[in-house]
Amino acid sequence: MKALSAAFLLAASLCTAAHAEAPRVLTSIKPLHALAAAVMDGGGTPDVLIKGGGSVHGYTLRMSDAAVISKAQVVFWIGPEFETFLVRPLNALGKSARVVSLMEVPGLTLLPARSGGLWDADIDHGGVRKDGHLWLDPTNAKAIVAVMAQTLSAVDPENAARYAGNASAATAQLDALDGELREKLAPIHSKPFVVFHDAYQYFEAHYGLRSVGSITVSADRAAGAKRIDQIKKQMGTDGMCVFAEPQFEPKLIDTLIEGTGAKTGVLDPEGSTLDAGPGLYADLMRGLADNLVSCLTP
Ligand SMILES: [Zn+2]
Repeated sequence: MKALSAAFLLAASLCTAAHAEAPRVLTSIKPLHALAAAVMDGGGTPDVLIKGGGSVHGYTLRMSDAAVISKAQVVFWIGPEFETFLVRPLNALGKSARVVSLMEVPGLTLLPARSGGLWDADIDHGGVRKDGHLWLDPTNAKAIVAVMAQTLSAVDPENAARYAGNASAATAQLDALDGELREKLAPIHSKPFVVFHDAYQYFEAHYGLRSVGSITVSADRAAGAKRIDQIKKQMGTDGMCVFAEPQFEPKLIDTLIEGTGAKTGVLDPEGSTLDAGPGLYADLMRGLADNLVSCLTP
């Protein structure tokens, strides 16, 4: 009886260790949530602030967000110049949470925001010199997975082996995804296209694609008549594609392509139409590739 209860106690304590609560992890946007969910798989589930069809651009915090933020032990975000609405609440968290700003992590590829011609510095990003849409480069996604695993292991060393194992599985999946997309996108390398807002240069640079401009100067500011004229001139060629985004008004696109023979498609850089979860990152990247290919293939 004594042995039995000792065994029971041992089992119970092992059980507790195995189920030690995972740290409360908060991510700002769905693509980062997907990568964190993959790293935490089998342990906890990360939270995400911008859910559903919301966009990081012009996002306003809700009361419910404040509660989620205040409970976070680990936060992964792009950085103060990108999710400007998070600067104050994260400062208020102080040292109670480990906050990782991915734009400041060494080893990630950062590109300067494009300006001039049909590009313009995205004022919504606070006039930032660096482009914050860094998750759209799969090499960066791998670096993010590594940083997440490292950070979580430091905060929750008991589950370090799980984070490391999940990270290497996620990295292998990202490599496979990258190869698949490279092959899929090869035939459209030289095809020009116009995007809704300047979100895709990491994707374009990585896969050698050729966008020629964005409709909006800023993701939440409408383009004026002068800009529409400029873009129309640029669009003179046949087979051009103009891409809308699910969270923004598509009326502008109709005005823009009127009488030009251009085609339209939709790109969803934040995965706003996709269900959050570990598979969202691959779905998002495949969605971009599929929509580009289907519009740009004659
Ligand atoms: Zn954006």
